Amino acid sequence: MIATGVQWKRLKAPGVDRLQGAGVYYGGGATEALSCKGEVIYIVGGANSAGQAAMNFAKYAERVFILVRGSSLASSMSQYLIDQIEQMPNIQIWTHASVAEVHGESHLEEVSVLCSDTNKVERVPASAMFIFIGALPRTDWLNDVIERDERGFILTGPDLIRDGKRPKGWTPNRDPFLLETNIPGIFAVGDVRHGSVKRVASGVGEGSVAVQFIHQYLSKV
Ligand SMILES: Cc1cc2nc3c(=O)[nH]c(=O)nc-3n(C[C@H](O)[C@H](O)[C@H](O)COP(=O)(O)OP(=O)(O)OC[C@H]3O[C@@H](n4cnc5c(N)ncnc54)[C@H](O)[C@@H]3O)c2cc1C
Repeated sequence: MIATGVQWKRLKAPGVDRLQGAGVYYGGGATEALSCKGEVIYIVGGANSAGQAAMNFAKYAERVFILVRGSSLASSMSQYLIDQIEQMPNIQIWTHASVAEVHGESHLEEVSVLCSDTNKVERVPASAMFIFIGALPRTDWLNDVIERDERGFILTGPDLIRDGKRPKGWTPNRDPFLLETNIPGIFAVGDVRHGSVKRVASGVGEGSVAVQFIHQYLSKV
Protein backbone atom coordinates (compact mmCIF):
# COMPACT_ATOMS: atom_id res chain seq x y z
CA MET A 1 0.00 0.00 0.00
CA ILE A 2 1.51 3.30 -1.10
CA ALA A 3 0.76 6.10 1.38
CA THR A 4 3.64 8.47 0.76
CA GLY A 5 1.61 11.71 0.88
CA VAL A 6 2.61 14.95 -0.80
CA GLN A 7 5.05 17.73 -0.20
CA TRP A 8 3.11 20.97 0.29
CA LYS A 9 4.52 24.33 -0.71
CA ARG A 10 4.35 26.59 2.35
CA LEU A 11 3.10 30.17 2.24
CA LYS A 12 5.76 32.41 3.70
CA ALA A 13 4.05 35.43 5.24
CA PRO A 14 4.06 36.69 8.83
CA GLY A 15 1.33 35.14 10.96
CA VAL A 16 0.63 32.18 8.67
CA ASP A 17 2.47 29.58 10.74
CA ARG A 18 1.05 30.93 14.02
CA LEU A 19 -2.57 30.90 12.82
CA GLN A 20 -2.32 27.62 10.92
CA GLY A 21 -5.27 25.51 12.03
CA ALA A 22 -6.95 28.61 13.51
CA GLY A 23 -8.47 30.13 10.41
CA VAL A 24 -5.49 29.46 8.12
CA TYR A 25 -5.48 26.09 6.39
CA TYR A 26 -3.61 24.24 3.67
CA GLY A 27 -6.09 22.71 1.27
CA GLY A 28 -9.73 22.39 2.25
CA GLY A 29 -12.69 20.31 1.21
CA ALA A 30 -16.42 19.87 1.58
CA THR A 31 -16.32 19.64 5.37
CA GLU A 32 -14.58 22.98 5.77
CA ALA A 33 -16.96 24.56 3.25
CA LEU A 34 -19.93 23.63 5.44
CA SER A 35 -18.38 25.36 8.43
CA CYS A 36 -17.95 28.62 6.50
CA LYS A 37 -21.65 29.38 6.23
CA GLY A 38 -22.27 33.13 5.87
CA GLU A 39 -18.57 34.01 6.25
CA VAL A 40 -16.05 35.90 4.15
CA ILE A 41 -13.21 33.64 3.13
CA TYR A 42 -10.04 33.87 1.11
CA ILE A 43 -8.57 31.27 -1.21
CA VAL A 44 -4.91 31.65 -2.10
CA GLY A 45 -3.82 30.27 -5.48
CA GLY A 46 -4.89 30.28 -9.10
CA ALA A 47 -4.76 26.64 -10.19
CA ASN A 48 -7.60 24.14 -10.59
CA SER A 49 -7.51 23.00 -6.97
CA ALA A 50 -8.10 26.61 -5.87
CA GLY A 51 -10.93 27.00 -8.40
CA GLN A 52 -12.65 23.79 -7.31
CA ALA A 53 -12.35 24.85 -3.68
CA ALA A 54 -13.79 28.29 -4.47
CA MET A 55 -16.82 26.67 -6.13
CA ASN A 56 -17.27 24.46 -3.11
CA PHE A 57 -16.98 27.27 -0.56
CA ALA A 58 -19.22 29.61 -2.55
CA LYS A 59 -22.18 27.30 -1.86
CA TYR A 60 -22.01 28.24 1.81
CA ALA A 61 -19.82 31.31 2.36
CA GLU A 62 -21.25 34.79 1.94
CA ARG A 63 -18.27 35.87 -0.13
CA VAL A 64 -15.21 34.09 -1.53
CA PHE A 65 -12.15 36.00 -2.69
CA ILE A 66 -9.54 34.22 -4.82
CA LEU A 67 -6.13 35.84 -4.46
CA VAL A 68 -4.05 35.42 -7.63
CA ARG A 69 -0.57 36.82 -8.17
CA GLY A 70 -0.95 37.09 -11.96
CA SER A 71 -3.23 39.24 -14.09
CA SER A 72 -5.84 36.50 -14.65
CA LEU A 73 -6.64 32.87 -14.04
CA ALA A 74 -6.35 31.98 -17.72
CA SER A 75 -2.79 30.64 -17.63
CA SER A 76 -3.26 28.47 -14.56
CA MET A 77 -6.88 27.27 -14.43
CA SER A 78 -9.03 25.23 -16.82
CA GLN A 79 -11.46 27.34 -18.82
CA TYR A 80 -14.51 25.31 -17.72
CA LEU A 81 -13.72 26.20 -14.09
CA ILE A 82 -13.15 29.87 -14.91
CA ASP A 83 -16.55 29.88 -16.65
CA GLN A 84 -18.21 28.32 -13.59
CA ILE A 85 -16.53 30.80 -11.25
CA GLU A 86 -17.66 33.73 -13.37
CA GLN A 87 -21.24 32.52 -13.00
CA MET A 88 -21.03 32.63 -9.20
CA PRO A 89 -22.03 36.09 -7.97
CA ASN A 90 -20.36 35.63 -4.56
CA ILE A 91 -16.89 34.74 -5.90
CA GLN A 92 -14.50 37.58 -6.62
CA ILE A 93 -11.14 37.11 -8.30
CA TRP A 94 -8.54 39.47 -6.90
CA THR A 95 -5.64 39.61 -9.38
CA HIS A 96 -2.11 40.98 -8.78
CA ALA A 97 -2.68 40.02 -5.16
CA SER A 98 -0.58 38.13 -2.66
CA VAL A 99 -0.74 37.62 1.08
CA ALA A 100 1.55 40.07 2.89
CA GLU A 101 0.52 39.15 6.45
CA VAL A 102 -2.32 37.56 8.40
CA HIS A 103 -3.63 38.94 11.69
CA GLY A 104 -5.59 37.68 14.68
CA GLU A 105 -5.14 36.99 18.39
CA SER A 106 -6.17 33.34 18.65
CA HIS A 107 -7.93 33.01 15.26
CA LEU A 108 -7.61 34.63 11.86
CA GLU A 109 -9.34 38.02 11.80
CA GLU A 110 -7.76 39.96 8.93
CA VAL A 111 -5.54 39.49 5.90
CA SER A 112 -3.13 42.08 4.53
CA VAL A 113 -3.10 41.79 0.76
CA LEU A 114 -0.25 43.23 -1.28
CA CYS A 115 -1.56 44.57 -4.60
CA SER A 116 1.42 44.40 -6.95
CA ASP A 117 -0.14 46.74 -9.54
CA THR A 118 -0.51 49.62 -7.06
CA ASN A 119 2.17 48.48 -4.60
CA LYS A 120 -0.32 49.12 -1.79
CA VAL A 121 -1.28 46.83 1.06
CA GLU A 122 -4.99 46.45 1.85
CA ARG A 123 -6.02 45.04 5.23
CA VAL A 124 -9.35 43.21 4.96
CA PRO A 125 -11.50 41.18 7.39
CA ALA A 126 -11.45 37.39 6.87
CA SER A 127 -12.94 34.45 8.76
CA ALA A 128 -10.78 31.85 7.07
CA MET A 129 -8.04 31.51 4.50
CA PHE A 130 -7.38 28.33 2.50
CA ILE A 131 -4.04 27.94 0.77
CA PHE A 132 -3.76 26.10 -2.55
CA ILE A 133 -0.29 26.93 -3.82
CA GLY A 134 0.79 23.44 -4.76
CA ALA A 135 1.31 19.93 -3.50
CA LEU A 136 3.91 17.67 -5.08
CA PRO A 137 3.37 13.92 -4.81
CA ARG A 138 7.05 13.06 -5.55
CA THR A 139 6.25 9.70 -7.11
CA ASP A 140 9.01 9.74 -9.74
CA TRP A 141 10.44 6.57 -8.21
CA LEU A 142 7.40 4.68 -9.54
CA ASN A 143 8.65 5.35 -13.09
CA ASP A 144 6.17 3.96 -15.61
CA VAL A 145 5.23 0.95 -13.52
CA ILE A 146 2.33 2.54 -11.62
CA GLU A 147 -0.01 4.75 -13.65
CA ARG A 148 -0.10 8.39 -12.51
CA ASP A 149 -1.85 11.55 -13.69
CA GLU A 150 0.05 14.40 -15.36
CA ARG A 151 1.00 15.82 -11.94
CA GLY A 152 2.25 12.51 -10.57
CA PHE A 153 -0.76 11.52 -8.42
CA ILE A 154 -1.47 7.78 -8.50
CA LEU A 155 -4.54 6.56 -10.40
CA THR A 156 -6.70 3.98 -8.68
CA GLY A 157 -9.93 2.02 -9.19
CA PRO A 158 -12.45 3.62 -11.59
CA ASP A 159 -9.89 6.24 -12.71
CA LEU A 160 -8.01 3.43 -14.48
CA ILE A 161 -10.95 2.40 -16.65
CA ARG A 162 -10.85 4.25 -19.97
CA ASP A 163 -13.56 3.80 -22.60
CA GLY A 164 -14.74 0.81 -20.60
CA LYS A 165 -11.31 -0.86 -20.88
CA ARG A 166 -9.21 -2.12 -18.00
CA PRO A 167 -5.59 -0.87 -17.69
CA LYS A 168 -2.92 -2.18 -20.06
CA GLY A 169 -1.43 -5.47 -18.86
CA TRP A 170 -4.25 -6.05 -16.34
CA THR A 171 -4.75 -9.84 -15.95
CA PRO A 172 -7.36 -10.51 -13.21
CA ASN A 173 -10.89 -11.26 -14.36
CA ARG A 174 -12.26 -8.25 -12.49
CA ASP A 175 -11.94 -4.45 -12.52
CA PRO A 176 -9.33 -2.90 -10.21
CA PHE A 177 -10.64 -2.52 -6.65
CA LEU A 178 -11.57 0.99 -5.51
CA LEU A 179 -8.09 1.91 -4.20
CA GLU A 180 -6.05 -0.50 -6.29
CA THR A 181 -3.50 0.72 -8.83
CA ASN A 182 -2.96 -0.68 -12.33
CA ILE A 183 -0.76 -3.39 -10.76
CA PRO A 184 -2.99 -5.99 -9.06
CA GLY A 185 -2.35 -6.10 -5.31
CA ILE A 186 -0.69 -2.67 -5.13
CA PHE A 187 -2.92 -0.04 -3.51
CA ALA A 188 -2.60 3.73 -3.02
CA VAL A 189 -4.27 5.78 -0.30
CA GLY A 190 -4.21 9.30 1.12
CA ASP A 191 -2.82 12.46 -0.40
CA VAL A 192 -0.71 10.66 -3.01
CA ARG A 193 -3.83 9.30 -4.70
CA HIS A 194 -5.38 11.13 -7.67
CA GLY A 195 -8.57 12.86 -6.55
CA SER A 196 -7.88 12.50 -2.82
CA VAL A 197 -9.50 14.89 -0.34
CA LYS A 198 -6.20 15.73 1.41
CA ARG A 199 -7.42 15.44 4.94
CA VAL A 200 -6.23 13.25 7.82
CA ALA A 201 -9.60 11.56 8.29
CA SER A 202 -9.93 10.69 4.61
CA GLY A 203 -6.38 9.30 4.47
CA VAL A 204 -7.01 7.14 7.52
CA GLY A 205 -10.38 6.02 6.12
CA GLU A 206 -8.90 5.09 2.77
CA GLY A 207 -6.16 3.11 4.53
CA SER A 208 -8.67 1.02 6.44
CA VAL A 209 -10.84 0.47 3.35
CA ALA A 210 -7.78 -0.61 1.35
CA VAL A 211 -6.95 -3.21 4.02
CA GLN A 212 -10.29 -4.88 3.29
CA PHE A 213 -9.47 -4.99 -0.41
CA ILE A 214 -6.04 -6.42 0.37
CA HIS A 215 -7.72 -9.25 2.30
CA GLN A 216 -9.98 -9.87 -0.70
CA TYR A 217 -6.99 -9.81 -3.04
CA LEU A 218 -5.01 -12.26 -0.87
CA SER A 219 -7.94 -14.62 -0.48
CA LYS A 220 -8.07 -15.08 -4.27
CA VAL A 221 -4.32 -15.34 -4.98
C1 LIG B 1 0.56 22.52 6.97
C2 LIG B 1 -0.54 21.51 6.82
C3 LIG B 1 -1.66 21.58 7.62
C4 LIG B 1 -2.69 20.63 7.51
N1 LIG B 1 -3.78 20.75 8.31
C5 LIG B 1 -4.72 19.79 8.28
C6 LIG B 1 -5.82 19.83 9.16
O1 LIG B 1 -5.97 20.75 9.97
N2 LIG B 1 -6.74 18.84 9.09
C7 LIG B 1 -6.62 17.80 8.22
O2 LIG B 1 -7.46 16.91 8.24
N3 LIG B 1 -5.60 17.75 7.34
C8 LIG B 1 -4.64 18.72 7.36
N4 LIG B 1 -3.60 18.66 6.49
C9 LIG B 1 -3.57 17.59 5.50
C10 LIG B 1 -3.09 16.28 6.13
O3 LIG B 1 -1.85 16.51 6.81
C11 LIG B 1 -2.91 15.24 5.05
O4 LIG B 1 -4.10 15.13 4.29
C12 LIG B 1 -2.58 13.88 5.62
O5 LIG B 1 -1.43 13.95 6.45
C13 LIG B 1 -2.34 12.89 4.48
O6 LIG B 1 -1.92 11.66 5.01
P1 LIG B 1 -1.04 10.70 4.14
O7 LIG B 1 -0.85 9.49 4.98
O8 LIG B 1 -1.61 10.55 2.79
O9 LIG B 1 0.36 11.44 3.93
P2 LIG B 1 1.40 12.04 4.99
O10 LIG B 1 0.76 12.34 6.30
O11 LIG B 1 2.10 13.12 4.26
O12 LIG B 1 2.39 10.83 5.26
C14 LIG B 1 3.23 10.33 4.25
C15 LIG B 1 4.47 9.72 4.91
O13 LIG B 1 5.19 8.97 3.95
C16 LIG B 1 6.56 9.28 4.05
N5 LIG B 1 7.20 9.04 2.75
C17 LIG B 1 7.13 9.81 1.64
N6 LIG B 1 7.80 9.24 0.63
C18 LIG B 1 8.29 8.08 1.10
C19 LIG B 1 9.07 7.02 0.54
N7 LIG B 1 9.47 7.04 -0.73
N8 LIG B 1 9.38 5.98 1.34
C20 LIG B 1 8.95 5.92 2.62
N9 LIG B 1 8.22 6.89 3.20
C21 LIG B 1 7.90 7.95 2.46
C22 LIG B 1 6.59 10.73 4.48
O14 LIG B 1 7.82 11.06 5.08
C23 LIG B 1 5.43 10.76 5.47
O15 LIG B 1 5.84 10.37 6.76
C24 LIG B 1 -2.58 19.59 6.57
C25 LIG B 1 -1.43 19.52 5.76
C26 LIG B 1 -0.42 20.48 5.88
C27 LIG B 1 0.80 20.38 5.02
